[in-house]
Amino acid sequence: MLTLHKINKYYQVGTHSLHVLRDVEVEIDRGEFVAIMGASGSGKSTLLNVLGILDEYDSGEYLLDGTLIKNLSERKAADYRNRFIGFVFQSFNLLPFKTAVENVALPLFYQKVARRKRNRIAMQYLERVGLADWADHTPAEMSGGQKQRVAIARALIGNPRMILADEPTGALDTETSAQIMALLGEIHREGITILMVTHDTEVAAHAQRTIRLRDGKIVTDDHGVHPPAADPVAAHA
Ligand code: ADP
Ligand code: MG
Repeated sequence: MLTLHKINKYYQVGTHSLHVLRDVEVEIDRGEFVAIMGASGSGKSTLLNVLGILDEYDSGEYLLDGTLIKNLSERKAADYRNRFIGFVFQSFNLLPFKTAVENVALPLFYQKVARRKRNRIAMQYLERVGLADWADHTPAEMSGGQKQRVAIARALIGNPRMILADEPTGALDTETSAQIMALLGEIHREGITILMVTHDTEVAAHAQRTIRLRDGKIVTDDHGVHPPAADPVAAHA
């Protein structure tokens, strides 16, 4: 799915240069569910933004589905984002004056899909996340968990290969977090690759693999908790 090779990134803060990603080396296969953990300021969001082609890196190589993602024009970057990636954020990032169905339909609006058609498709995704009855409500009328479901429906409507989620349960209570994680688990089982930043070890336990960052460096990369399904050919060899 994607490869990062010796990725380095710096932020210029005044006259000081902050080294936020240090020789990051990682390979993620299609269908993986990966948690990215680490202390606040360790570079988790920066890494996710590089993966989401929302931010540039200074050296190294990022290959997405075999294509080098480097110095892309804004138009090309947007094209890759639309084709490959759905985003989910801690603060939901819904448009406050739009209804749930309009928020879900937004990516199709940008793709110039006609209103009636995009709202019809958006309704299917709202149903998928269990919110068909809330289609005409605005975010202010919804709970945090409902807002995150709307955001997940919006992330899915472009039919992405990969979901990038930055602390998707960070603003939710324990029970609502568990519901959102169950939904992400279902989406993963449908074959979508998920990369999720989280502080919470309980949330991270839903993933199959945990990458830990410290000061911009990967310090551990565990495929531990849930072993990958046994290869039946190898098992009988
Ligand atoms: P995390 O998501 O792990 O909390 P971030 O990736 O947001 O960490 O930030 C990593 C480091 O980069 C932090 O020290 C942060 O202050 C710094 N940083 C993040 N964004 C910027 C920016 N736009 N300009 C300057 N420094 C930044
Ligand atoms: Mg962050």
